[in-house]
Formats: sequence, structure tokens, C-alpha cells
Amino acid sequence: MARVTIKELTKRFGAVTAVSDFNLDIADREFLVLLGPSGAGKTTTLRCVAGLEKPEAGQVHFDGELMNTVAPALRDVAFVFQSYALYPRKTVYENIASPLQARKVPKSEIDAKVREVANKLHIERLLTRRPQQLSGGEQQRVALCRAMVRQPRVFLMDEPLTNLDFKLRVEMRTELKHLHADLDTTFFYVTNDQLEALSLADRIAVLNKGVLQQMDTPENIYDHPVNRFVASFIGSPTMNMLDCNLAGDDAALTAEGWVLTIPGPARDAIKKAGIGNVVLGVRPEDIALRVQEQHGDLPGEVYAIEPLGDRNIYEVKLGTSIVRIKTPPTFMVQPGERVYMGINRQRIHLFDPKSDQAIL
Ligand code: ATP
Repeated sequence: MARVTIKELTKRFGAVTAVSDFNLDIADREFLVLLGPSGAGKTTTLRCVAGLEKPEAGQVHFDGELMNTVAPALRDVAFVFQSYALYPRKTVYENIASPLQARKVPKSEIDAKVREVANKLHIERLLTRRPQQLSGGEQQRVALCRAMVRQPRVFLMDEPLTNLDFKLRVEMRTELKHLHADLDTTFFYVTNDQLEALSLADRIAVLNKGVLQQMDTPENIYDHPVNRFVASFIGSPTMNMLDCNLAGDDAALTAEGWVLTIPGPARDAIKKAGIGNVVLGVRPEDIALRVQEQHGDLPGEVYAIEPLGDRNIYEVKLGTSIVRIKTPPTFMVQPGERVYMGINRQRIHLFDPKSDQAIL
């Protein structure tokens, strides 16, 4: 158990600044997910916390204790690497047991613990094999088991579910949640999978190009993204972004072929920002698609349909733009047909096109 504080962390590799002036305060026992695209600096941040990279500037504290000069082995963290880092000559059993053997835990206790975690992650039948006799997903589960056999101050996990198939990944997500609840330990977890972040995290820190974009609960990150990057990175299909201008005494937004009235707070926000152009953001689930027009709807034409079983994704032409909309699977209209979009105005997002910052 530990509170992890990262202060003004900067890490460079030659001309590349991997992490820039990064600040993060992870509460004791929190499940914090660091989310960002490939190359954002997530692994580098995690490695700095583990002591495997030496930052150019900044500090890492565990419970207020400065860790910068503490050797990695003495930081009491369990690290699950993206690359598994299993001992090739040891069996799965020996790999999982190694952190306990290093601590001179009695054999019977080791045996019970190894079998318990192997059972949890469904790899009991693999205990006598060696890493090269395992699939990528199996190796990944062995690496997770090895981290789980003891209770470190902090769990550091670098995309530990990437090599699993979809079903197993969902199952392992649940296991990780149980593990977090059972172990009462701080989890610092890295992923580029926004769904994984939303489902696992107490709070999400979104990183892009080494710079922290936003840190908040999954709900707030989803509902109140602070800029276009966060808004677009989270949510699938991605948030619709429409460039538009103010019209009709500033009471509406307009672009080629459509006009949308907006509520008072949106108008006030645009006025306050002092901008004439704005980017309207609308999530695909915040648009109702219908064949009968209702007051205030935007007309469009169906361009394509992606059936996903439990829902359909419609692509609809609106002027020169394409808008993506989630509909129930029962809604069936053919490409080329005219449809109407009812935008939930209480859930629209507005961004300054120059700064990309949210203004609403
Ligand atoms: P991914 O999701 O692909 O693992 P990431 O967000 O974890 O990406 P990092 O691995 O931290 O990103 O890399 C951040 C940046 O630092 C990248 O531009 C990467 O090329 C660079 N980088 C990382 N490690 C090194 C290194 N050892 N030498 C040189 N550049 C590096």
C-alpha cells in the first residue's frame, strides 16, 4: 500500500522528450490507469516509477518518501512488463514462485500461493511447462501470476492484457478488479485501450506526447473532456466533430447545409470565449436517428451501416460531413434514404478550433 506522487517528471532520450513536466498523485489503494496512444510516454513514466529509468528532472515519492535514489529492487513494486520478462529456463511454477523464493518464504506457503494464483488465472495445467512452450497470452498470464503472489507496495502494469483474445481479456479485466479489491494495493496501470481504462480505473490520466492532458474519474473524462484530443481518444465510435459558425443572433450553429439551435449555456460559453467559429462535438449515442422529422432535427442521408449485433452504427451525410450514430439493432434504413437526426443539446461539446480546448 502506498500513495505514489510524481512531481515535475521529465525524461528525454536524446532529442526525444518522452515525458514532459509530468505531475500525478495516485492515492493509496487507488486503481490509476495511464491512458494514451502509442509513443505517448506511458511505459517511460512507469519505468521511472519503478526506478528502471533515471529521469532528467522530477521526483517520485512513495508515501512522501523520495524514491529517486532508492534502487529498483528496494522500492517494493511488482512490475508486469509488456514483454513478460519471464525466466526462460524456469518452469511456469518456478517463474511464479521466484519472488517468494527470493524472500525465503516457506515451501508449503509458496506452493499454496502459486496454485491459488494459477487457479485464478486458469493456468494450473501449464505449471510444468517452460515459457517457450506457451502462447503469448499464456506467458502474459504467467507474468501476471508472478506479480500477484506477493503483496507489494505498488503494482505497476504495462499493458498486461494486450496479447489475450477478446473473451479472455474481458475475463482478466474482472480478475484484475477482484485482485485490486482483495489485495488493497495501489495499482498503476498503463494501456492504450480506452475501454480497458474506462472499465478498470478509479481515475484515468490521459497522456499525449509526454504531456498530461486530463486526470479524472472515467465518468468525467467521458462526459467532460477538456480538449479535442481527450474527446476523440475516448469513446467508440469516436465523438463526431463538426466545424461550424455562429448564426441567427448567436442562437444557433451553422455549417454547409444545416442549422442547429443551441441552449443558453452553450451560447454564453461561445460569447465568453470570444470566438466566431466553433467545433461542435457530439457522441454517437447522443443523436436519435429517425425517419419521421421532429422539430429541430437535422436532415441527412444514410451513407453506410455497420451492424454490430447489439447495436448498429449508421454513417449519415450531413452537408459535407459524415456523422456516426449508434442505434438499436431494430432500426433499419437503407443507404441513400433520408433520415433525421435529433441531437441531444444538453450533451453537446464545444471546442475552440484554434486552441482545441473545450469551452463548454
Ligand atoms: P506504447 O504504447 O507503444 O508502448 P508508450 O506510450 O509506452 O508507447 P514510450 O515507450 O514511453 O511510449 O515511449 C515514449 C517515446 O520515447 C517514444 O517516442 C519512444 O520512441 C521514445 N523512447 C522510449 N524508450 C526509448 C529508448 N530507450 N531510447 C530512445 N527513445 C525511446
